Amino acid sequence: SKRTKIKALLTGEQTGMEVTVMGWVRAFRQNRFIALNDGSTNNNIQIVVDFENTDPALLKRITVGAAISVSGILSESLGQGQKVEIPASVIEVLGDCDPEKYPLQLKNRPSLEYLREIAHLRFRTNTFGSVFRLRNALSFAVHRFFQERGFVYLHTPVITASDAEGAGETFRVTTLDPAKPPLTESGEIDFKQDFFGKATNLTVSGQLEGELGAMALSDIYTFGPTFRAENSNTTRHLAEFWMIEPEMAFCDLAENMDTAEALLKYVISYALEHNREDIEFLSQRLLEEEKSKPQQERSEMNLVEKLQFCLDNDFERLTYTEAIEILRNSPHNKKKKFQYLVEGWGTDLQSEHERYLVEKHFKKPVILTDYPKEIKAFYMRQNDDGKTVRAMDILFPGIGEIVGGSQREERLDKLEQRMDEMGIPKDELWWYLDTRRFGACQHAGFGLGFERLVLFVTGMGNIRDVIPFPRAPKTAEF
Ligand code: ATP
Ligand code: MG
Ligand code: MG
Ligand code: MG
Repeated sequence: SKRTKIKALLTGEQTGMEVTVMGWVRAFRQNRFIALNDGSTNNNIQIVVDFENTDPALLKRITVGAAISVSGILSESLGQGQKVEIPASVIEVLGDCDPEKYPLQLKNRPSLEYLREIAHLRFRTNTFGSVFRLRNALSFAVHRFFQERGFVYLHTPVITASDAEGAGETFRVTTLDPAKPPLTESGEIDFKQDFFGKATNLTVSGQLEGELGAMALSDIYTFGPTFRAENSNTTRHLAEFWMIEPEMAFCDLAENMDTAEALLKYVISYALEHNREDIEFLSQRLLEEEKSKPQQERSEMNLVEKLQFCLDNDFERLTYTEAIEILRNSPHNKKKKFQYLVEGWGTDLQSEHERYLVEKHFKKPVILTDYPKEIKAFYMRQNDDGKTVRAMDILFPGIGEIVGGSQREERLDKLEQRMDEMGIPKDELWWYLDTRRFGACQHAGFGLGFERLVLFVTGMGNIRDVIPFPRAPKTAEF
């Protein structure tokens, strides 16, 4: 008969009905009770086996990790811990799992480090079940937010010639055949023969292309894989991550901030509403981890409270210049507790500074605006002071920068002047400059790092644990 998902059965509304469930065995106790999981929820359904009337050869094959199919009448459970159970009338082993070899046999909860080494199997743990169901919900909520507001989902290229943004190190795309590499006249491999003879790279941001869309469709967003050859090994950077980049015509910096704050609140509240069970599971898991920390390092709020707090408060908005003053005069700076001391105006903030502002000073999410133009990209709208640009970064507790955005420079002369100053080739970006020639208008947008959002909502500590297949130095092979 037709398979029913375990999550749907656990509500207990269909007792008395014949049902079939399929999943993977999580535990088999006393040759009698199977805890079965199919990934629809962390809660297992209890299967009761009539072991006296079951073939011993079949019983032996019911091992942790095996895939099985069970049919029976969904019944009320008299045991503790579950409302319903299935006394099995038919059990079929679909896929055996050798208990000697299965790496997830462990009685104690395996460490995240160990699970990263067996990343191909970690989907089968409750922690990663919750993380990836939340990732899914957040991604759906992102689309829902934009679709409800009439944004067009625009697919920007993964292979692109534009790396002019200078957002980070780029991965080069090459079509070289290693067996028959084209040679230069002097007999060396001709590495310039990339993508059909054109030097290209994997996209570091879809923004420049996104702006082209916005200059006709008004409001667009991208949501796709983004690549940066990050040479640092942090818990906040991946070589392949997903970025959400809305771009809005007729929009200034203030509206840009409003949109970003509304988006973050919308998706967090969506997750709290639709994936409460997973958030509560991760919250509980975090509490257990916190117990091993010294009292003063434990966080004051649990995960649910932390997310709710973020919804209930306006993000603090201030300028970079104001932030520098706060940091410079902070007790942290005076006692030299920062690794990088804040001495003056003009330098970029490190994540320790961002987190100080959020976690210690304002104790809520922060939006910093009007950064020095020297530390920001060429396309940002220049302020009249000649020193700052209309940039904004959103900083989150435990994360630091989660969003980076700006109002864009729509004035051709100012844009060209800035490109010249920064040595950015105007001829390569002629198509971008055309948007400023043909009906330019005020516009703005931002980039939200999807994994940083998932980190925040799941409370996980390492970005490699919130993407199914992490791509970073020394990650598992896929
Ligand atoms: P950071 O200062 O953390 O390196 P950035 O300023 O280089 O970030 P942006 O170019 O502003 O990043 O990109 C927009 C957003 O994309 C960032 O705010 C962040 O959320 C996310 N992001 C950037 N680089 C990475 C990365 N390597 N891995 C995961 N997310 C990233
Ligand atoms: Mg960076
Ligand atoms: Mg940054
Ligand atoms: Mg940034």
